[in-house]
Amino acid sequence: MASKISSFQHYIRGTFQEADSFIDIVNPATEEVIGRGPVGSGDVVDKAVAAARAAQPQWAARPAIERAGYLRKITEKIRANVDRLARIVSEEQGKTLSLAKLEVAFAADYIDYMAEWARRIEGEIVSSDRAGEQIFVFRKPLGVVAGILPWNFPFFMIARKMAPALITGNTIVIKPSEETPINCFEFVRLVAETDLPPGVFNVVGGGRDTGAALASHSDVDFISFTGSGPTGSSIMTAAAANVTKVNLELGGKAPCIVLADADLELAVSAIRGTRILNSGQACSSAERVYVQRSVAAEFTDKITSAISATRLGNPLTDTDIDMGPLTNRAGLLKVDAMVQAAIKDGATVRTGGAQRSDGRGFFYAPTVLADCKSDMSIMRDETFGPVLPIQIVEDLEEAITLANDTNYGLTSSVYTRDLSSAMKACRELQFGETYINREHFEAMQGFHAGIRKSGIGGADGKHGLYEYMYTHTVYVQA
Ligand code: NAD
Repeated sequence: MASKISSFQHYIRGTFQEADSFIDIVNPATEEVIGRGPVGSGDVVDKAVAAARAAQPQWAARPAIERAGYLRKITEKIRANVDRLARIVSEEQGKTLSLAKLEVAFAADYIDYMAEWARRIEGEIVSSDRAGEQIFVFRKPLGVVAGILPWNFPFFMIARKMAPALITGNTIVIKPSEETPINCFEFVRLVAETDLPPGVFNVVGGGRDTGAALASHSDVDFISFTGSGPTGSSIMTAAAANVTKVNLELGGKAPCIVLADADLELAVSAIRGTRILNSGQACSSAERVYVQRSVAAEFTDKITSAISATRLGNPLTDTDIDMGPLTNRAGLLKVDAMVQAAIKDGATVRTGGAQRSDGRGFFYAPTVLADCKSDMSIMRDETFGPVLPIQIVEDLEEAITLANDTNYGLTSSVYTRDLSSAMKACRELQFGETYINREHFEAMQGFHAGIRKSGIGGADGKHGLYEYMYTHTVYVQA
């Protein structure tokens, strides 16, 4: 009997290219194989980079407003296919259908936002020390971008790399995660229906080896990577050989501070939302809570009852669910190992604390752990799952000290109604982002960037856009 499972192809120089080898893609809710993703060898990566290189000068020579026109044709295609693309994202990644629709629609908005920069990219004219001299600072595209993507927001990540790259005159080779490539290959089909010039946008499938071939490629000018810290280090090492510029968006261990004067209802609702959204697999989700002693019992009771009401299910077949499975078995095992270690070290399970035992799929029960201490792994290492560890603190001072005592530095949040507490937190928290009285998401016009081991550089807004350009300073005596 013929297999109904689709195999996908690379997309290079505007044409679909058969792959020699494939990797199975699994639905995390059912553990069934739902597709076969192509795996690109070094030769395939060479071809894709050569295609991007060949297309880049002409692409950059077009007025930016023309490039914006091509991007807008792509967003029209996305908007006409939101429901279909969202089902694909849910099926291969495991998020709820409502979140997948939000992700796909947001990706279209994001591309449009970047297209709006067409008329806003600016250089500078600086006054010179020499008579009659003009100093011009031009902004120019870096050239060929390699975009290496994670699996947690797979569709949005395509937009986050492709849109700033293309509007600024770069061309790009995207490598989606081997866990969730189908949405990217469906996106490719939509791009292929537009008249985007061949070679401007290329996609190569594959996993670590394909990513490593891209990262070490001597003809890539900029590597824009989102993923885990260890992979980020490997990419930086590979890039070092060619002195290639890197932009690394890595993991986080976001602290969340709940003070005695906080609006507890708001804090509970926002923190529950961030913890179960995408099954806790978001780099900016609150990963550890520091709650002031006088409200600790009330907060813990309320968040426990809110989180224990979470409805788990298969995003495509169960209605009225709040959360799907984790995306892969490795994640499930890691989350459970961290929870069991915390329990062994003295944490108290208030709800959850185990894998879902009834049936298939990578489901983990939303978990609240009380009595956590700052030396536990659950308070120090990225969990990337639906687990909320809570530690009691005496005051804001102690909370800030513990929050800053981390290798990570991506996001952080504070709940308080006191302006001076909020401002003290803004001054003293050492993170790329802080949310006061809310959790993520970050805004497309902001700047999403981590410090310490959370990354180098950032994405979104003006600062994210200019990451894709270099400056060329020209001194004119004329
Ligand atoms: P990962 O590092 O395992 O994989 C990411 C990508 O890198 C995949 O496409 C993979 O094939 C590729 N890859 C793996 N090894 C490689 C190598 N040696 N060279 C080049 N490429 C290689 O990450 P993941 O598990 O897909 O994503 C989860 C992680 O991403 C979490 O740590 C999360 O915090 C982080 N993340 C960060 C942000 C952010 O904006 N900071 C956003 C989303 C996810």
